Amino acid sequence: MGLQERVEAMKQQEARRAKPLRQLLMGVDVEKIKETVRQTLKDLPIPESDCPICKGAEWVIPMVNGKPDYAHPRRCKCMREKDFQKRQEMYLRMCELPPATENMTFENYKVFPGLEEACEAARAIAYGNLKWLTLLSEVDRGKTHLAIAICREWLRQGKSAKYAFVPLLLDELRAGFDGKGGNSYQSRFEFFCNVNLLVLDDLGVERASDWAMEKLETIVDYRYIHKLPLVVTTNIALDNYSERIASRLKRSEDSKVVVIKATEYRLRRKQNGTNGNAS
Ligand SMILES: [Zn+2]
Repeated sequence: MGLQERVEAMKQQEARRAKPLRQLLMGVDVEKIKETVRQTLKDLPIPESDCPICKGAEWVIPMVNGKPDYAHPRRCKCMREKDFQKRQEMYLRMCELPPATENMTFENYKVFPGLEEACEAARAIAYGNLKWLTLLSEVDRGKTHLAIAICREWLRQGKSAKYAFVPLLLDELRAGFDGKGGNSYQSRFEFFCNVNLLVLDDLGVERASDWAMEKLETIVDYRYIHKLPLVVTTNIALDNYSERIASRLKRSEDSKVVVIKATEYRLRRKQNGTNGNAS
């Protein structure tokens, strides 16, 4: 086939391909379609925004060496507060605080005699002035209230925090974190390792030899090595723990162990006629 013939064959092929489109457009009023599109666009709601920077687009294109860098759009300043609130809400869900503990804040914590040091240390870790805190006391001395108050303060500051009631956490570890919102074991385990603040409420020794307890020790180890904040509440003297956990809690850099010697809340309530702290 000569060149001329080949060009002719290609033209015919092109014509065959274009035919269906021509048939499709036959009888269609293109001007009418254009007008409909114009009207639709006109009626679309324009996002309400007073922002002079992004004019409601929520993103801005930074200039690099005098040229717009379309590959790296940045969130506009006007979205910072909204984004911050969204992040806070997400972190609150991830923290999984126990229900009906909204009142467990520092504002609602009554500093009775014997609780001064614990409260001061809890505030220190809540405001980033301490890395590790162990609150040790017998039951019903208000440790959980302080532990939750610390979490709430971190969340208020827009930082992630995870509250874990240890007996439940051990069950969860043993079960392989299944049934928890479809999260894989690995991702949930990594969350416990890496979350900004981890609170282990009611750490005991009853299942110290357990595989789940070993996993918990790994989390504590990881946080120790990476200098990540940890709060532990317990009613058992640290010497009863495995050497691995006890040494971490006692010797971690920037850590504090507070032994609470306050009266039991139930008794205090009877003596003072007050409500004491929530737990
Ligand atoms: Zn803006």
